[in-house]
Amino acid sequence: MIEAIGLSKRYGDVPAVRDVSFRCEPGTVTGFLGPNGAGKSTTMRMICGLTPPTGGAATVKGVPYRRIANPGRHVGVLLDAAAQHPGRTGREVLTLTADLLGVERARVGRMMETVGLSPKAARRRVGGYSLGMRQRLGIAQALMGDPSVLILDEPANGLDPEGIFWMRTLLRDFADRGGTVLLSSHLLREVEAVADRFVVIAGGRIAAQGTKAELLTAP
Ligand code: ADP
Ligand code: ADP
Repeated sequence: MIEAIGLSKRYGDVPAVRDVSFRCEPGTVTGFLGPNGAGKSTTMRMICGLTPPTGGAATVKGVPYRRIANPGRHVGVLLDAAAQHPGRTGREVLTLTADLLGVERARVGRMMETVGLSPKAARRRVGGYSLGMRQRLGIAQALMGDPSVLILDEPANGLDPEGIFWMRTLLRDFADRGGTVLLSSHLLREVEAVADRFVVIAGGRIAAQGTKAELLTAP
């Protein structure tokens, strides 16, 4: 479960996020929708304890993210797929992730299969990867610790239509097995087929939230 309670963030005079509250329940995929600059990344960074809020608070599985012991075993996070270490190979990145989380290295190969990263691709340096491949690698990292919560910022960026379909299936299965997913996008079409609920943000404020049916019938 993820809960944001009145989260706000100002950068100097710029209010990036204003009084944002929502909940993501187990067994559901929440689509976090809004145009570029709306405040999605800032909100997700606050939820993950990477950006201190200027107001409000957030919890993941009932506690602030930073109070979770070995958080990668509970919460899989992908915030900026482009930021992976360019000089390491995909396999090195995943092996490091496994070691950091204390999971057996056998899981590296399994996660490569799960995300469709071929052994050949895994031997190449991440610097030569397309954004779509970085997204797959980032999802493999996020899943490495067998978490029950996934927080993914624009994971469909750079994925081709087949990749988007693959990710949709993966996230649906994850939620159907009881997982909680928060998935951001600036494109409705990337999330509408997979999300059970939507949180729409614009100019740092919640513009709407609910199921698709609720949003369509809202006054
Ligand atoms: P989104 O993820 O929806 O594209 P962001 O959360 O990245 O939106 O950005 C929200 C607003 O906050 C934007 O106006 C952005 O320029 C601003 N912003 C984000 N990070 C910083 C920062 N570190 N310093 C100053 N302004 C920032
Ligand atoms: P991207 O989403 O394309 O990776 P970001 O918008 O997150 O890029 O910006 C990259 C870095 O710059 C981040 O550390 C972010 O917090 C910071 N940043 C973003 N917008 C601003 C801004 N308006 N002023 C200052 N720093 C910003």
